[in-house]
Amino acid sequence: MRAFSITCRACGAQRPFTHPIAACPECGGGWLDAVYEYGRYHHTEGLNTYRWPHALKRYGASLWRYRDLLPLRHDQNIVTLGEGWTPLLKAHNLGLMLGHPNIYIKDERQGPTGSFKDRQAAIAVSALKEASITEAVVASTGNVAIAYSAYCARAGIKLWVFVPSSVPVEKMREMSLYGSEVIKVTGTYDQTKEIAAQFATSKNIFLDRGIKGIAAKEAMKTLAFEVAEQLGAAMAGDDPMLLNTPRPWRAPDWYVQAVSGGLGPVGVMKGFAELNDLGLIDTMPKLANVQPSGCAPMIQAFRQDRATAVNVDDPMTDIITLATGKPGEAYEVLYELTKRHGGTFEAVTDTEAFQALRVVAEMDGISVEPATAVAFAGLFKLIRQDVIQPHEIVVVNCSGHTFPVEKQIVGEHFTRDMHVSNGASHHGRSEGLLTALEELDDRVQRIAIIEDNADSARLVRRILQAQGDFLIDEANDGITGLALIQRTRPNLVILDLMMPGMDGFDIVEIMKHDRYLSNIPVIVITAKELTAVERERLDGKIKGLLQKGTFMDSDLLNDIRQALPT
Ligand SMILES: *Cc1c(COP(=O)(O)O)cnc(C)c1O
Ligand SMILES: [Zn+2]
Repeated sequence: MRAFSITCRACGAQRPFTHPIAACPECGGGWLDAVYEYGRYHHTEGLNTYRWPHALKRYGASLWRYRDLLPLRHDQNIVTLGEGWTPLLKAHNLGLMLGHPNIYIKDERQGPTGSFKDRQAAIAVSALKEASITEAVVASTGNVAIAYSAYCARAGIKLWVFVPSSVPVEKMREMSLYGSEVIKVTGTYDQTKEIAAQFATSKNIFLDRGIKGIAAKEAMKTLAFEVAEQLGAAMAGDDPMLLNTPRPWRAPDWYVQAVSGGLGPVGVMKGFAELNDLGLIDTMPKLANVQPSGCAPMIQAFRQDRATAVNVDDPMTDIITLATGKPGEAYEVLYELTKRHGGTFEAVTDTEAFQALRVVAEMDGISVEPATAVAFAGLFKLIRQDVIQPHEIVVVNCSGHTFPVEKQIVGEHFTRDMHVSNGASHHGRSEGLLTALEELDDRVQRIAIIEDNADSARLVRRILQAQGDFLIDEANDGITGLALIQRTRPNLVILDLMMPGMDGFDIVEIMKHDRYLSNIPVIVITAKELTAVERERLDGKIKGLLQKGTFMDSDLLNDIRQALPT
């Protein structure tokens, strides 16, 4: 097991991590960070110095190669789709055109769902799994929701995603394809976030805290680790994708990113700071934070040298991925980092971004989403202004690429629409909003899963979560399972036969002789080949019998539909 601690940005209090917390117990501060036992991987013993890169030799080409400094305690909880270790590409033609030979593109389009949010989803969802959380809520301008949807599907976690209605319909289709509940809110992203938080509170479901929680920042930190490792190889003339070159790691002079909530640059700078503290790099990059001029709360503030953002209530950009009008504490952190290490904030128009999108595609064969084009437009602008110098090493986060889901696969009616009148969103607790939030969740059928094998339970749960509005309870042995059935009197029981203590046969028997439970339909899912005698014991008492490893989701759902009175 790996151990790590949590620190609070507001008061500096530090405590060992045991489970996810939403605020600092000392001061209530919401901005939490992870710190590690750095010396464990990086220390001197007599004449020998053990450096962290040496410890990485055991690990392969994914962001999990940095697991020693990631907030997960047990490797068995890793939920992965092969994220991280994305290519660091040299922008040959752009470089030639601009007279800047050292522009590198960190190609995050090549993540499993096509954006750098895959890093965040991988680590956040792994942490959810480690904390045994099976249902979660997230608000998003699109890419976080897609990435979380994919990883939650894999982890067997039911996900509610709240997105502004201006998110492209192709992106919503993709979330829906992964089995998430997609709530389309007619309002700004900042309003959408508030509504998601209220929904999570009213339903007592885990709310992803984004930049304030630890998983998200730790995830983005891996971008810095990869860049330092790959750039070290590239600058020495080696293949940047080669693992474990003996080359010294190095930081770029600039890290350029299109910024919305600010998670990327905040996490990346934490990563470079850790490498600096470990002595693996000796400079810190300057940040170029680029926003669309129609939603540039950070740029406005920086130009006035203010440490707090100038909020934008009504974002006026078509690039919805970047429409965070109220960045809050994230801007304060970025302001401090930019003051300390150099760098700048710059705005570009949507038109400039779309032009840059074409240029990058035409010059270097890289097709990006509009949000990413904002970073390139910013790069061009800062080069023209001589803020970025020709000799400097620049890394641009090529943050995302969209892969539209075919219309014929996911049809037209896959969102639940929610209309927020302006009054409701500004004054929070109106009746109408609360009723609407209640109505979002109309799960009435309650299903109990009694299954001692965790993988089988997750599979069944996932099938139910993705296809129906079921309230799901689980127990992983017979005695607890029977107590659960007696307590909740579910509409349906899904039952394993072979369990320690009390087995499924016993439960079926007891239910049949209990006047409160005898009418509850039971579907048995078993790994056991049943003997004739055993079949007889179940005969007439169950509604369905499925053999593990041989049925598809539709078989189970058919059995459930037939068993449940409508
Ligand atoms: C989320 C996102 C951004 C902005 O990232 P932050 O670091 O959260 O500000 C930029 N580009 C793309 C493609 C994104 O998905
Ligand atoms: Zn605190």
